[in-house]
Amino acid sequence: MSACYVTHLECSLTGRQYPAGEVHGLSAEGRPLLVRYDLDALAAGLERQDLAGRTDGFWRYREFLPVRQPENRISLGEVVTPLVPLSTPDGGRGELLVKDEGRLPTGSFKARGLALAVSMAKELGLHRLAMPTNGNAGAALAAYGSRAGMESVVFCPDDTPEVNLSEIELQGAVTWRVDGLIDDCGRIVRERSEEEGWFDVSTLKEPYRIEGKKTMGFELAEQLGWTLPDVILYPTGGGTGLIGMWKAFAELRAVGWLEGKLPRMVAVQADGCAPIVRAFEAGEEHAPRWEGAHTVAAGIRVPAAIGDFLILRAVRESGGFAVSVSDEAILDARREVARRDGLLLCPEGAATWAAWRAATADGRIGVDEKVVLFNCATGLKYPLPLVSRHYEAAAD
Ligand SMILES: *Cc1c(COP(=O)(O)O)cnc(C)c1O
Repeated sequence: MSACYVTHLECSLTGRQYPAGEVHGLSAEGRPLLVRYDLDALAAGLERQDLAGRTDGFWRYREFLPVRQPENRISLGEVVTPLVPLSTPDGGRGELLVKDEGRLPTGSFKARGLALAVSMAKELGLHRLAMPTNGNAGAALAAYGSRAGMESVVFCPDDTPEVNLSEIELQGAVTWRVDGLIDDCGRIVRERSEEEGWFDVSTLKEPYRIEGKKTMGFELAEQLGWTLPDVILYPTGGGTGLIGMWKAFAELRAVGWLEGKLPRMVAVQADGCAPIVRAFEAGEEHAPRWEGAHTVAAGIRVPAAIGDFLILRAVRESGGFAVSVSDEAILDARREVARRDGLLLCPEGAATWAAWRAATADGRIGVDEKVVLFNCATGLKYPLPLVSRHYEAAAD
């Protein structure tokens, strides 16, 4: 039996406290709520070695998670995702590792967040969940929602990759195409939730997806012997994973499990949708909406992020930076890594490789540093180049 160490929820802007064990969306100020734990009690009750025999993927960190009743943990067989080394240019003594999140259920790391959101929805007695999505989050909601016996409704921009629309529908969500971007989809969910009795599980609009995403930080630390790399490059849309990992590192540090220093966090975006990069460079705390957003990396096509200030804060606190790359560089990176290392990255993951290469060229990342890239989804979910080479068997 595992104890639950949640003490309360806290507004990420004002610090105002909210009771645990109740349904919450945003804080009164319209900001994300963060889950807080009694980390002293947790540290007294659990040691790093206690995790050794656990085999249930990210649920191995259950003491750091908010689900109280084990029967409410909705699982589809999560795995600890591997760190796959990539080749680096000659002369570099550094290490380049890809955390390959494409191995999770539904083929993306959205499984982490939605597993927690759906499990908590079950624990809190909710039945109908809705969200806007660029694809992967909707697939994870559909799958975990169906697994939990809940209804889910998903709104996708019209040009969401067809495979995402199909997988969402097949896994049991009512799936709508919308002629707009993800924030237009978000508005529909917001406006219709009350009337339809939906609970809005949009990025950071409920408190628990971030708790699932933070398990990336726990896994990474444990895989690296409770140390962290010099730099983490993260493809940033809504920023849940980046904020979540930064929270995980703070929690690990508070319980005394971490050795050495924290990594520099680098938020990677696409040139066609780079609100966080623009705000970072302007020294701003918030990131105004990016107009006319477009990129092949659909997962990071998020024109406005409700957790913008949390992303920017984590990046700055860590001594990292925000950087964007072109779609051409993303597709080149995907081709190069697939050919050279045999790993098919998703475009968002390829963006981190392109950003790593640019940053080692301009000196922002040293060639001798240990770097972790996040490949957030399987490359197989995305449109791939056609093969045109044709062999005439009859003429042989
Ligand atoms: C959602 C998503 C992202 C962005 O993740 P956030 O934590 O919301 O910033 C990046 N890549 C892929 C493949 C995604 O599905």
